Amino acid sequence: METINWNPAQVDEAADWLKKGEVVAFPTETVYGLGADATNEEAVQKIYSAKGRPSDNPLIIHVSSLSQVNEFVTHIPEEAKLIMSHFWPGPCTIVLNKKGPLAQSVTGGLGTVGIRMPDHPVALALIEKAGVPLAAPSANSSGKPSPTTAAHVLDDLNGRIRGIIDGGATGVGLESTVLDLTDPETPTILRPGGVSLEELSEVLGDVYMDAHLQDDTQAPKSPGMKYRHYSPDKPVYILPEDSVQAEHIVDQLKRKGHIPGLLVSEQSAALLNQDKTVFFSLGDKNKPSEAASRLYDGLRGLDESSATVILAEPYKPLGIGSAYMNRLEKAAEWISESL
Ligand code: AMP
Ligand code: MG
Repeated sequence: METINWNPAQVDEAADWLKKGEVVAFPTETVYGLGADATNEEAVQKIYSAKGRPSDNPLIIHVSSLSQVNEFVTHIPEEAKLIMSHFWPGPCTIVLNKKGPLAQSVTGGLGTVGIRMPDHPVALALIEKAGVPLAAPSANSSGKPSPTTAAHVLDDLNGRIRGIIDGGATGVGLESTVLDLTDPETPTILRPGGVSLEELSEVLGDVYMDAHLQDDTQAPKSPGMKYRHYSPDKPVYILPEDSVQAEHIVDQLKRKGHIPGLLVSEQSAALLNQDKTVFFSLGDKNKPSEAASRLYDGLRGLDESSATVILAEPYKPLGIGSAYMNRLEKAAEWISESL
């Protein structure tokens, strides 16, 4: 497999691979995506096998123009047009009723399809050159934290895909918001992400959260939300907000022989005793977008470090903080009993 640097000639080459039914990883503004021609069943199957992704977890299709959307959905309600005009290109996926020549496995057997237009020059050029929408989940092994650099993709998928376009680190660092508009009267967030509930509400009025996001005994409407996700191999623990309690937990773990990997803001790092710990900064506590963009790199970095347990700082579930907490809680779900 090849890693190629971002320049227009290289994007032409990658588009040729896609036209031939190969899979290629590319940067978007959220995380790196693993793309295939969304109309080619064999190509889409390669995504599932490269990632080890369960076949009932549908893929988002990525378009570079609004006209492409018409080919794949039965109807675009006014609410969807508003979202497209405010947030596209950008990190908001819209779920609508599907039609047309999409490969069967893109939608995991559902009658709906998730579509977005990414806000990244490489992604847009690649889709345009390929001449087809690209089915593209995050370019990680299923279950692992999503990749925010080409090196992360290489760590997970080396030898399993045709190539990677290296466009540097991604911006948002967390995946898109998945917004269900199949019933436009009740716009529903199936997965929080790069566009917040507050931003969507400014445009649409009332916006709902899928019941599963508040109560995990409810079945999720987004099939992917039921799987293990975003998890490094080492156990992840969410620290208490209070710094005295946090320090107590760090000390307790050290006494048990652990090396804590601290994934915390600069402000919290200054309050914690960092002796015999490994530290990865989430940036300025007052800027949750910095924590969002660093979370996956931190989980991966600490997983590879000498830390034996990862202790991550919680943020307020507002704006991008809501997506940050959703991912962190998923990563921490499989916390080791031994802690
Ligand atoms: P990923 O591309 O890996 O970030 O995952 C895509 C997410 O979008 C998963 O949680 C999917 O379950 C969700 N998704 C994609 N298409 C649909 C759809 N048609 N209906 C509901 N959720 C979807
Ligand atoms: Mg993913």
